[in-house]
Amino acid sequence: MKNQNQDLVIIGGGIMGLFTAYFALQFSKKIVLLEKREIGNKFCASSGYSRSIRNDYLDPFYSVMASESQKMWVDLEAKSKKKFIIKCGCLNIAKKQVTPKLELTYAYKSYKILNSLGHNARYYKNSKKLKEKFLQFGADIACLDIDAGFLYIPAILDFLKRTLISKGVKILENSEVTKVKRKGKEILVEFNKKTIRTNNVALAVGVWSIEMLKKVEGAFWLKLPIIPIEQQLDYFEVPPYLKNKYSSENMPVFAYLDAGIYGHPLYGQSPGLKVAYFDPMGAKLVKSVFDPQKQDIIKNNFDFIKNCLPDLKKIKLMESEFNYYDMTPDNDFIVDELPGINNIFIAGGFCGTGFKFAPLIGKAMAEKIFRKNNTIYNLDRFSAGRFGKISDLSFLKTIPMYKNFIMPKNWKYLKKGIEALLTLKKLP
Ligand SMILES: Cc1cc2nc3c(=O)[nH]c(=O)nc-3n(C[C@H](O)[C@H](O)[C@H](O)COP(=O)(O)OP(=O)(O)OC[C@H]3O[C@@H](n4cnc5c(N)ncnc54)[C@H](O)[C@@H]3O)c2cc1C
Repeated sequence: MKNQNQDLVIIGGGIMGLFTAYFALQFSKKIVLLEKREIGNKFCASSGYSRSIRNDYLDPFYSVMASESQKMWVDLEAKSKKKFIIKCGCLNIAKKQVTPKLELTYAYKSYKILNSLGHNARYYKNSKKLKEKFLQFGADIACLDIDAGFLYIPAILDFLKRTLISKGVKILENSEVTKVKRKGKEILVEFNKKTIRTNNVALAVGVWSIEMLKKVEGAFWLKLPIIPIEQQLDYFEVPPYLKNKYSSENMPVFAYLDAGIYGHPLYGQSPGLKVAYFDPMGAKLVKSVFDPQKQDIIKNNFDFIKNCLPDLKKIKLMESEFNYYDMTPDNDFIVDELPGINNIFIAGGFCGTGFKFAPLIGKAMAEKIFRKNNTIYNLDRFSAGRFGKISDLSFLKTIPMYKNFIMPKNWKYLKKGIEALLTLKKLP
């Protein structure tokens, strides 16, 4: 490897880096992946046990992309001969006591969208109908995204890592990239006092994107606002006599996105029932009586359980997991060549929802890199240039979150902005 020019160096061994390598193999065998810790380390976003896979986005663009990506997961699972898609469905619920305007809720709206796009979905119009199918939930309406469920991370990372190594990708763990610079037509990537020469670089470093961009010669990191936001997942202990009822055999992934809640049933080695906070694109349609903006996340999760999972009123918290989302101000991903910097590409800003899209993003990245933007997917919406020219700062005014930073009509945004800057400082 020492003296050989590589075709592609991928920086970051999370799910996006791994899938970029997987699809890049169609074009070249000279690929190196550098990961500053280990694949699946506890700090990266692609760690832990499970990630939802679902189609029920309110924005049809994401909904269509999710089902495209799901086909790729199914294909990959068949190749792996391992089980990593747990197709238990995803149930969006709503309850009058919590969100009085049911017709404005995510559950109601997502059904309309799934239906209009021809996805497999079922609507439960009252609590009685819902109880006939899912005894666990106390809710007034629900929408089941039938072709949904969750992805089991340990099996996926293991399969991808083994496959890449067996096909000749050099995966170097504990290799933190400290500099990316240009020498003539070549790009030099420095790590652990070593240098690799390459024709292309893919940055897939999640919440470390801004840190990484500071190390790329000529990249003006402020142009790519990838903002880290701390997240919390809680695992709750289900009493032994209820374990079967709350396992993925009998219970779907569940979400009450108007209240910022989603969760996963018991499965495999997962420590308990997972309940987490997520503030997704296009959600928060309607006011909820419990609100994570006003109370701490654990209290919010307990409120959800008390209201919507009545069996589990006395459930105990087992453990909490802390991690980070890489947000963009407009909630869209960034998948593109760096503006004005040839042959250095980035996949980032996945806003807490990227895992399910990873095969599609990896394929698009590989095609952008090796076919020079000639990918079958139209990902113009994810262009890195959309944040505009930094010179006149006009782009700041076009992005609601920034607008609120400058003219904080809503102090919540200013607070969030300051929190994001502090989070950046404490990233592991
Ligand atoms: C708590 C939580 C819950 C989520 N739930 C869902 C869900 O239910 N469904 C869903 O679809 N998505 C979900 N997501 C989002 C999804 O997990 C992420 O979008 C996805 O994992 C991002 O992958 P990534 O490869 O971009 O980043 P990461 O997995 O963070 O990988 C980046 C890697 O880059 C490495 N790195 C950083 N700097 C350097 C450097 N200088 N040199 C070398 N390596 C470096 C890091 O060590 C890290 O391993 C969730 C995310 C979180 C945090």
